[in-house]
Amino acid sequence: MLVEEIIESVIKEDKQNKYNAQNPVLEFELKRTVKEAKRVCFDVFVNQKRSKFVPTYFEKEFGNGKTIPAIKLNAKGGEVGVRGAVDRVDYYGDYVRIIDYKSGAINSSTEGLYTGNKLQLYLYMNAFTGDGKKPSGAYYYSVKDEFSLDGVSPAMSGKTVCDKDIIMATDGDLKPRDRSKIVNVALTKDGEVHGSSQTLTEKQFNDHLKYSVKVCEKCVDEIRSGYITATPYKGACTYCSYSAMCGFSEENGSLERKEDGVSVETISNALEKGGE
Ligand code: SF4
Repeated sequence: MLVEEIIESVIKEDKQNKYNAQNPVLEFELKRTVKEAKRVCFDVFVNQKRSKFVPTYFEKEFGNGKTIPAIKLNAKGGEVGVRGAVDRVDYYGDYVRIIDYKSGAINSSTEGLYTGNKLQLYLYMNAFTGDGKKPSGAYYYSVKDEFSLDGVSPAMSGKTVCDKDIIMATDGDLKPRDRSKIVNVALTKDGEVHGSSQTLTEKQFNDHLKYSVKVCEKCVDEIRSGYITATPYKGACTYCSYSAMCGFSEENGSLERKEDGVSVETISNALEKGGE
């Protein structure tokens, strides 16, 4: 009911008044949005009931002049501050988790971080950790009608620190031999955390955070040095609005880059080599 009331009040404020017009397509679109919003609210409620994490910040901005300061990049030629906004930040004691709501396709692969295509979650976590606050997980929360609490896909996609206390604070209903429906984590028959590519040690998680900063520092260095050669990763050009003018084309013999065999260790090893 609350969802319907909120949507109704938003429609009343709709400057173009489009949803109040007699249009069957918009009527259908609206019904679907209401249905989806109800489902997401219910899922968030159920997930929250199982969790000890306390949602603390919503659409929280960080940057110069904000209560959460900018992320500092030690780039050549002078420091640069990164600002941004995070959909949701939850705390459990000193542990922090970052959540980004996504209505589109979700890619939380390690390769995405390694290539610099998907830095956001780990980069933004840097703004909320330090001074005793530690990372526990970074997730995309699907708000598409594609997962269900009774289905296979968990609500949140991303990496979690491999620590029983954190896992049980995330999903208090999780039992031995079970796989969580909230995050991509399972327990063994003895009730221990089943290690997988979706769990990281605290060191590995911190390496992910440091690596995301290193990639950004390198980008700033390259931009400042005038390096603007097009070297896209596979798939980047498909829907790019600048393809007509950048000149990059596989038909001209240019090849898109692709990284195979990227693992969690690849990130830590790259960091040891200075983020290369
Ligand atoms: S089309 Fe050009 S500008 Fe766009 S992603 Fe590809 S290389 Fe970059």
